[in-house]
Amino acid sequence: VETVRLEAACGRILAEPLTADRDHPAMARSVRDGFALRAADTPGELRLIGEVRAGEVFGGGVGPGECVEIMTGAPVPDGADAVVMVEHVESHDGMVECPQRLEPGIHINPVASECRVGDVVLPAGRMVGYPEVAFLASIGAMQVPVFRRPRVAVLATGDELVSAELTPAPHQIRNSNSWSLAAQVRRAGGEPEILPVAPDTLEGTIELVSRGLSSDLLLLSGGVSAGKYDVVEQALRALGAEFFFDRVLIQPGQPLVFGRASGTFFFGLPGNPASTMVCFEVFARAAMELIAGRIAAPLPLLEATLAETFRHKPGLTRFLPAVLHGDGQTLSPVKWTGSSDISAVARANCFLVAEPDKPVYAAGERIRVLLR
Ligand code: AMP
Ligand code: MG
Repeated sequence: VETVRLEAACGRILAEPLTADRDHPAMARSVRDGFALRAADTPGELRLIGEVRAGEVFGGGVGPGECVEIMTGAPVPDGADAVVMVEHVESHDGMVECPQRLEPGIHINPVASECRVGDVVLPAGRMVGYPEVAFLASIGAMQVPVFRRPRVAVLATGDELVSAELTPAPHQIRNSNSWSLAAQVRRAGGEPEILPVAPDTLEGTIELVSRGLSSDLLLLSGGVSAGKYDVVEQALRALGAEFFFDRVLIQPGQPLVFGRASGTFFFGLPGNPASTMVCFEVFARAAMELIAGRIAAPLPLLEATLAETFRHKPGLTRFLPAVLHGDGQTLSPVKWTGSSDISAVARANCFLVAEPDKPVYAAGERIRVLLR
C-alpha cells in the first residue's frame, strides 16, 4: 500500500474503503433557481420576504403565505418544504404567484439524501476513475491510499526479432509485442519491465523466465505453439511451473498458456501480434488487475449493429478488428489477413466478438463488441 496525491489517483486501486466525511448534503439544498415556500400554500400568492444565495444561510424562517427567492445549491430556509422554479411563477410588487399545487419536498435535496456520514461509498479494491476522483475531492481526501502498481515483466521470444529501433533484414521483424504489451500493462495500471528478447533456446529462455518470475506477473510472447523451437512451456516446466490451461477456444489466440511458477502467475501469449494483443485484453488484463487488488475486472463489452453481412468459420469465438462508426451503433469488420496483421488492428477501433456457433451474421444483426 502506498499513498498518492489526489491528482495522481486516477487509474489506481483503492487500498482502503472510503467513507463520507459528513452528511451529503449537509443541509437541505435547493436543486433549482426559484422560490422556497410551504407546499400547503400552493396554489396561491405569496409574499417575498428575502433571498438566499448559494453559499449563504437565510437568517429567518418562511411563515405561512411567505416565500424566499432561492438559488440552486442554497440551503432551504426553515419553514419551507418546497421550491417552485423561477420559470413557473409570475412575480410583481413583492408578490409571487404560484399557479400550481406543489408536492412537499419538490426540488429539495434533503440532508444526507446522497450519503450519510460514515457510509462506505467506495470499497477497497475499486479502481479510481474520474467520478471516484470527484468523490475523493468532495470528502477532502487529498492523500489517497492505493495498492502499489503491480510490476509486470514483459518477455518476448524469437530469434527473428530485432529491436524496434534497428532495421531488420528481410528474414527478420521488429519486436512489436514488447511495446504493445508494455502499453497495455501501463494503461491497465501496471508497471511494465521489458526484459531482453529470449532466444529460441531452452537455456536462454530459462534464464530470462526466471528473471521475469521475480515480478508480480510475467507475460511472455511467442514460443508457445507446436513448433520445434517453441520452448517456452519446456522452460517453464523446468522451473517447476504448474499449468492451469494451455489452449483457449478463441481466435486470435488458441495456444495461450496460463500458470504459476515460484509463486508468480504467468501468461505465455501466442506470438502473433494480434493474438498477443487480444489475449492480453481478454485474459491477462483482468488477471493483472485482480493481482493488483481490484475486486472485479469486467470486459468492456457492448453490442452494435452490423453494417454488412459477416461470416466466419464456426468453432472458435473470434475477436476480429472492426470499426465502430461515429453513430456509436453500427459496426463494420476491417479486412485483415490474419493474426500477424498489425496494420488491420491499428486501423480498427474495437474488436467484434463472433460467437463460435454462429457462422453468419446478416447485415443489420446485432453483434457483440469488445471496446479497446
Ligand atoms: P511464435 O508464437 O513464436 O511462433 O510466433 C508467431 C508469429 O508471431 C511469428 O511469425 C513471429 O515472428 C511473430 N512474433 C513473435 N514474437 C513477436 C514479437 N515480439 N513482435 C512481433 N512479432 C512477433
Ligand atoms: Mg517464436
